[in-house]
Amino acid sequence: MKLKVNKDLCIGCGACQAVCPEVFEIEDDGLAGVIVDEIDEKVAEEAIDAKEGCPTSAIEEENDK
Ligand code: SF4
Repeated sequence: MKLKVNKDLCIGCGACQAVCPEVFEIEDDGLAGVIVDEIDEKVAEEAIDAKEGCPTSAIEEENDK
């Protein structure tokens, strides 16, 4: 699974980083980013919780094409 943050929607609230710091980090632009390429199984549940908990639905699943 791959996730990405839509920076046009993110408001930098930091919730995703609080829920799953292994995957999400507030970057220099004040908005969240995904810091891993592939979501490790060990943190997948937290990563999905963070995705579902994002107040602006800015976290999107990236489909391999
Ligand atoms: S939870 Fe959503 S809005 Fe908040 S920092 Fe993370 S991606 Fe941005």
